[in-house]
Amino acid sequence: MSKKRFNKPRLHCPHCGEFMMVRSSQEVMPTLRKGLVDCMNNECNFRGQFWFEIASTVAPSDMPNPDVHLEPTPFLQKRMAKQYEQEHQIDMFQSANDANHS
Ligand SMILES: [Zn+2]
Repeated sequence: MSKKRFNKPRLHCPHCGEFMMVRSSQEVMPTLRKGLVDCMNNECNFRGQFWFEIASTVAPSDMPNPDVHLEPTPFLQKRMAKQYEQEHQIDMFQSANDANHS
C-alpha cells in the first residue's frame, strides 16, 4: 500500500554547512509543520527553527481531504485545462453523433 521510501531530505547548517538533525517537530496544520534542527558539528552548535510547508499540488490525491486546499502548480493547471478541453471536444462529437442519429 505505501510507496518505497526515498532518501530523507537533508538540511545543511547555514553557518558551517554540516548536516542538521531534526530535534523535534509538531504539526501546525495538515500542510504545515514547525520544529527545531541541531547542527551536527560540535564546533558550531547552531540550533534553528524550521518550517516545512506543502505549498501546492503537483499531482492531485485520489483520496482528497476536503479540508485541504492547495493551489495546483502552473504545470498541473495547464494539464487540467488540456484534459478539460479534450473531454469537452469528445462531448461535442457525441452530441453531434446523437443529433445525426435522431
Ligand atoms: Zn553548523
